[in-house]
Parts: sequence; structure tokens; C-alpha cells
Amino acid sequence: MAALLWLPWNSVLADEKNGELDIYFIDVEGGAATLLVTPAGESILIDSGYPDYGGRDLNRIVRVVKEVAGRTRIDKAIVSHWHLDHYGNHAALVSKVPVTAFYDRGIPEDLPEDKGFPERIALYRAASQNKSTALSPGDKLPLKNAETGRRVPQLTAEVVTSSGKTIPNEGPANPFASEHVAKPEDTSDNARSLSLLFKLGDFAFLTCGDLTWNTEQRLMSPNNPIGQVDLFMVTHHGLDVSNNPVLVKAIEPIATVTCNGPTKGGMLPVLKTLEAIPTLKAQFQLHRNIKLGDDVQPPPHRIANSSDTAECKGHYIKASVSPDGKQFRIQVEGQQPELFETRLSK
Ligand SMILES: [Zn+2]
Repeated sequence: MAALLWLPWNSVLADEKNGELDIYFIDVEGGAATLLVTPAGESILIDSGYPDYGGRDLNRIVRVVKEVAGRTRIDKAIVSHWHLDHYGNHAALVSKVPVTAFYDRGIPEDLPEDKGFPERIALYRAASQNKSTALSPGDKLPLKNAETGRRVPQLTAEVVTSSGKTIPNEGPANPFASEHVAKPEDTSDNARSLSLLFKLGDFAFLTCGDLTWNTEQRLMSPNNPIGQVDLFMVTHHGLDVSNNPVLVKAIEPIATVTCNGPTKGGMLPVLKTLEAIPTLKAQFQLHRNIKLGDDVQPPPHRIANSSDTAECKGHYIKASVSPDGKQFRIQVEGQQPELFETRLSK
């Protein structure tokens, strides 16, 4: 392999953003909380883990936001869907760090699968001062881009699914469309998850919340409107009611990160589907699946936390994308980063 150099890495002042896009996958024990810090220094938190557990997930998020990423505020707090392990701390966050704006898929009247929804959504409404923005497929997240005059690519973020709807099924034919085997229709909020496609030059990152099988198929069949993706956050913690091959094979990821817990997600059928993708170089997981053999999981240096929840240190995984979008590295907290090259055209 050719020598991969990526300069300057550390030649910027600590309080100055270095032009990279940073993506932190925060360990919330099988929920989700993903912090993006954009080249312009904007901070975007997608989902916020579980509530309770003595503030465990809230504290982990605040540590990464303030101490690791050095941010003093969250510019955009996004909810992928209305399940506790995804918006558990949106309301509590505002007491720890200022949040400028809230985005979600739209607030439903009721959520049959959660009896506590009315109280929880009241807290969310209060925290967002009733000003959350509902995002629809095709919407672009408004992002600041640096006005340096330098010829660097602009970061974009497009909503590709929301509330069960998808962007139009345009683009080249998806060669994997015929692999769809329908599963029972999912009536839960998972099927209505918000999915976002971030792009920085040639680099693309896809995150779909807990989007489930048949919505994945509707998004990706018969055509592929997404194209190829370099970094894929494995959907729904790596559960096999999500990660339809019609989607994951078509996007041809180079690297994946699974936000699983010790006993939630990171399932074997998903590991196998991903492993068989020719472009895939590495799978990362926030947790070792303690119910599954080590031989079928990623190697230890690509797993952030190996113990069960009681012993867990809550290590994060960080992806950093070069300012030109041509390379990215992935680092498990406390380990050496690994470098990957973005595909040039898609
Ligand atoms: Zn969910």
C-alpha cells in the first residue's frame, strides 16, 4: 500500500478547528449518540442514549462534547426517532450544555409502544421551547461552512428518510434490489427513523437510526438514490430486523461502526452480510457482543468496550475525515488510529 500521509495533523492550535470533520460514536450501551464536529466547528448531536442509570449516558455525552471535542455548546441536537435509547437525554442535556436548535422527524400525537411518551415528550418540548424543526426527506440540514476562500469541499447533510417516507427512488439501478425478502411490516417508530447522508467532497457517511427492513427496501429499490458510502453507521445497533442487504450491499461501505451493547445488537447475520461486501475494509463495534464467539466478531483493537455493562468504561470510537474528504481515519479510544482512503467517484 502506498504511504498515506495526512498533514497537518497536529499543527493547529488546540482551540482552533483543523478543517476536519470529526464523528464521535459515543458508547451508550446499545442506544445511540453520535457527535459530529464539522470543519467549521459546528457541533451536531444525533440521538442521546438512555435516560436514567444515574446519568450514565448523559455524563458520557457531556464528557465527549466538552472534554474530548472541546465544545462549549451543541449547535444542533437531532432525534432520529422517538425511542428512549435515542432521545433519552435531549431534555436533560440543556442543563449541562447549551443547545441552539432541535431537529426531529416530527412529533407524533401518541406513541403506542411507549406509555411514558406523553411525559417524556413534554420534557422534550420544554427543552426545545416548542421550537424543534421537523425534517422531511430531501431537506438539507442548514450547515455553516468555513468562508476561508480556500478551495475545500463544503459539508452537506441530506435527509433521506423521515416518518416512513423516503427521497424519490432515482439514480442507477440497484443490482441488489432482487435480494429483498420481505419481513413483517414494522409498525413501531423504528420504521419512521430519520436517516441522514453527510458528504464532504468524495467522502460520504450514512446514519439511519433504527430504520427497519421494509423501509430500507423502499428507499433502495429498484434504484439506488444514495450511491456509495465510505463510512456507514450500522443501522439499529446491528440488529437483523434492519440492515437489509438491498441497502447495505448497494452502498458498498469501506468501514462500518456498530453502536451495539454487550447483549444488544451486533448480530451474526449482520456481521456476515457486512463481511461479504467486497469494498469493506473494517468493521468497528462499540461493544463486544458477549453472547457471540470472538472468532466471528471484529478483532479486539476494533472493539471499543469488551466487558459487560457493569464494568464498562464507555470508550468512544472517533472517525476523522481530512479537509479534502479524500481520507479518513478511525480510532477506538486508547488505540492507534487506522487510515482509510475515500473512493473517488460514486
Ligand atoms: Zn428504536
